[in-house]
Amino acid sequence: MKATKQNDPELYEIVQEEYRRQQGNIEMIASESTAPVECLELAGCVFNNKTTEGYPGKRFQAGSQYADKMELLAVERGKKLYEAEHVNIQPYSGSSANYGVYACMMRMGLMNPGDTILSMSLDDGGHLTHGSPANFMSKFFRFEHYALDHETEQIDYEGLAAKAKEVHPKLIIAGGSAYPQLIDYERIADIAKEANAKLMVDMAHISGLVAAKVIPSPVPYADFVSSSMAKTLCGPRGGFILCKEEYAKKLDSAVFPGTVSSIHLQTMAAKAYTFKYAASLEFREIMGRVVANAKYLARSLSEKGFRIVSGGTENHIVLLDLRPRGITGKQFQDALEYVGITLNKNMIPGDTASPNLTSGVRIGLTSTAQRGFHEEDIEVIAQIMDQVAENIDDHTVLDACKKKASELISKFPLYEKIYEDYFI
Ligand SMILES: *Cc1c(COP(=O)(O)O)cnc(C)c1O
Repeated sequence: MKATKQNDPELYEIVQEEYRRQQGNIEMIASESTAPVECLELAGCVFNNKTTEGYPGKRFQAGSQYADKMELLAVERGKKLYEAEHVNIQPYSGSSANYGVYACMMRMGLMNPGDTILSMSLDDGGHLTHGSPANFMSKFFRFEHYALDHETEQIDYEGLAAKAKEVHPKLIIAGGSAYPQLIDYERIADIAKEANAKLMVDMAHISGLVAAKVIPSPVPYADFVSSSMAKTLCGPRGGFILCKEEYAKKLDSAVFPGTVSSIHLQTMAAKAYTFKYAASLEFREIMGRVVANAKYLARSLSEKGFRIVSGGTENHIVLLDLRPRGITGKQFQDALEYVGITLNKNMIPGDTASPNLTSGVRIGLTSTAQRGFHEEDIEVIAQIMDQVAENIDDHTVLDACKKKASELISKFPLYEKIYEDYFI
């Protein structure tokens, strides 16, 4: 960062502060991960300077020959990684990928404004773009929601089937932001077929685990699969969509010119690298470690008196119900932030607390696995969490926990030493 250091020291110092924050903190926000150095290099490369619209071979601007070459390479890698018939990698984010699918449904004449989309409710772990009243999509479509079974805290498939019969959706959405269990895609695909609806799986959170084949893939069952890139996939900020060949042409024209204009080519380059890296043995081992560590944490916290929502985890997320410990999600989040563990408060199924307080927290195990944490290190985290929950206002205990967290994380650098120059 030599040029910025010299010419904008004020901004340079802010970036350095953020770098040191990431170095020194135990990062457990479930939507975060650490992008490889290659991703950061590519996301800042000279492709940023090129304006290109359209698709390879059919660009609107001259000088796009290398953009063509790169997009073709990225698409090839994406298709191979997910064994998908078609991939579109132009969406700017996971949200923009979802808008691309809605636009495609409209382009195919399968969905019109006012039609119904059936998705998991935000309170149960859905996403803003799945019909939250706060999202502008809710003004165009009628969103209906299916719920979790309040006994098992897993998707109530029978309820979902009944709801589909009742509300006649054009699109059913599976996938969410705080769901720690596997989803039976085949079963939802059958429900969608019966209801004459298309199935979109939003795998934003789990696309890294899917790529590494440590959990099942939705690709064989879904008409459309949307994703972001910076969650378990550990890539740049961006999105992509997978679909069957029969929708390929319509999807491409729905994405461009339907929902995006000039491509973020520098991000696309980082996406191309991400697809290559996600096919590597190293990545697969890390994703295996993510799930093993999550299962370990759920078990250990449960033994220490925490209640684990849905009884455990099959992915990178552990969702805690803090009511038995007599604290709110907000209190736990703030105390842990002080200690040096970053996570977020989260609503839990049937939560009656206000969204600003919540009764739960969501814990993600991606970044720690990337940095090399194993079970014995996760055990230290579980012990710290237990002590913090028990002594939420006791600064002597919190300070001791802070020291413990700092000692732990100092053993696992954010990036390899040889790349440190790159950040400083
Ligand atoms: C994070 C998330 C998104 C949005 O991804 P962005 O890249 O942040 O726009 C969409 N859907 C789900 C289920 C998510 O968890």
